Amino acid sequence: MADLILFNANVITMDPLYPKAEGVLIKNGKILSATTIDALKKWDRMKATTIDCKGKTVLPGFIDAHLHLYALAESHVTLNLEPDHNVRSISDIQNKIREYSQTLPSEAWLRGRGYNEFSLAEKRHPNRWDLDQITSTHPIKLTHRTGHAHVLNSLALKKVGISSETPDPPDGLIDRDVNTGEPTGLLYRMGDFLAKRIPPLESDQLDQGMRIANEELLSMGITSVQDASSHNGIEQWKMFCHWKEKGLLKPRLTMMLGTEGFSVYRREDFEPKMDESQLDLGGVKIILDETTGLLRPSQSELNQMVLKIHHAGFQACLHAVEEKVVDAAYSAIEYALKKLPKSDHRHRIEHCSVCPPSLAERLAALGIMVVTQPPFIYYNGDRYLRTVPPEGLKHLYPIKTLLKRGVQVAASSDCPIIPADPLMGIYAAATRMTETGQMFLPEEKITLEEALRMYGETAAKATFDDAMKGSISPGKLADVVVLNGDPTKVPMNEIRDIKVEMTILNGEVVWEKS
Ligand SMILES: [Zn+2]
Repeated sequence: MADLILFNANVITMDPLYPKAEGVLIKNGKILSATTIDALKKWDRMKATTIDCKGKTVLPGFIDAHLHLYALAESHVTLNLEPDHNVRSISDIQNKIREYSQTLPSEAWLRGRGYNEFSLAEKRHPNRWDLDQITSTHPIKLTHRTGHAHVLNSLALKKVGISSETPDPPDGLIDRDVNTGEPTGLLYRMGDFLAKRIPPLESDQLDQGMRIANEELLSMGITSVQDASSHNGIEQWKMFCHWKEKGLLKPRLTMMLGTEGFSVYRREDFEPKMDESQLDLGGVKIILDETTGLLRPSQSELNQMVLKIHHAGFQACLHAVEEKVVDAAYSAIEYALKKLPKSDHRHRIEHCSVCPPSLAERLAALGIMVVTQPPFIYYNGDRYLRTVPPEGLKHLYPIKTLLKRGVQVAASSDCPIIPADPLMGIYAAATRMTETGQMFLPEEKITLEEALRMYGETAAKATFDDAMKGSISPGKLADVVVLNGDPTKVPMNEIRDIKVEMTILNGEVVWEKS
């Protein structure tokens, strides 16, 4: 007996055993079966809730394998300085801050985010002196669109203890005036440093941000997310538990741990009071970086870190963008596997943005997964074409190459850096079109089927959840999305216009188009 029946539907199950169906039977939050009209007739509809899909397309719920929920929640309750919010110059930023500061109590932290120096007339980051002109009573923190740089005003620098005497922290960089050595207010890769020194948003504000983020994710058909924030630890775990318990966060969540969080993990209580299909621990995130010319952490440090994670039975999730850094990530995993061979480790490289075929082959040989961001092709492709040197450009987000060599590739958005919309990601992966309609490495186009799988089964694999998620198959979790168009049938350029009509999670309608 089913408790929810979807009928009159164009069901794309993503299950190779029976790829198409006309209805879905759901019971106790699980899929009973995807089935035909004739078989549906046998079911007792009186005892079930029925939904007439009116011929619309039903797919497995989308999975985003790498995003940042706290930052997403925060982004909804902080000042938006993205270019499409009429921010075209530093004086636009100043005006927005002036206006916003009047809504805040004096001395409250003023937070802005999303500015993009390429879109500003001055083509540079704002600095402390630009911000000091607006207010001396509010400490200000602006977050760059990538989340990897921040700008503080003088008051804020003082509050977090940064002066001309402060040395650069191990992974960060304090930008300084070349003549005076004074910090300019611009800080690179110091998000974790700042998080420890700047009071968090009030919890009711954050709850409000999460409420909006939750609606946004569900409206995009996203039923599972993986949080990849490198500062994740017990505090973030508790916050996610709180959001889950309050019903503010519906999508299923797997939280990666940061390296610090990983070291306290054994000593602390990371047990949620709920079903682990709702909230679970994932791998351990390490950020690899070589912007200063030197790899950080060093190869030998990295090898030991990955070995420790591997030894503890966790997945290593290595943030690596440039080819040399991806190679270093590969070497660290190779080192761990030599010390302690394991076949199904599913260690992951996050981004793996530049990857020539020879490196892709080596990743495949070791069974290393890649978590890529297809929407970057659309949102950032024009900038890549303008600014990335030809050597790097030819292997940038090479999704086809990775798949062809046998790498398992999962899709994600890195939201809030760009919007999470999976249909945009699917469109970008299948067409390689940028925002202005330029082609970005058309030879790296993948099929629609492959693009859907990256947001389904392979994204589920990236957290060992493929037995429960990623297809509409008997026994799997009843997470499905109803779309107003069939992405496998509409012309390619219309995929991004397809809208989600309904999102079902755990057999319950959690979002519906109004
Ligand atoms: Zn990220």
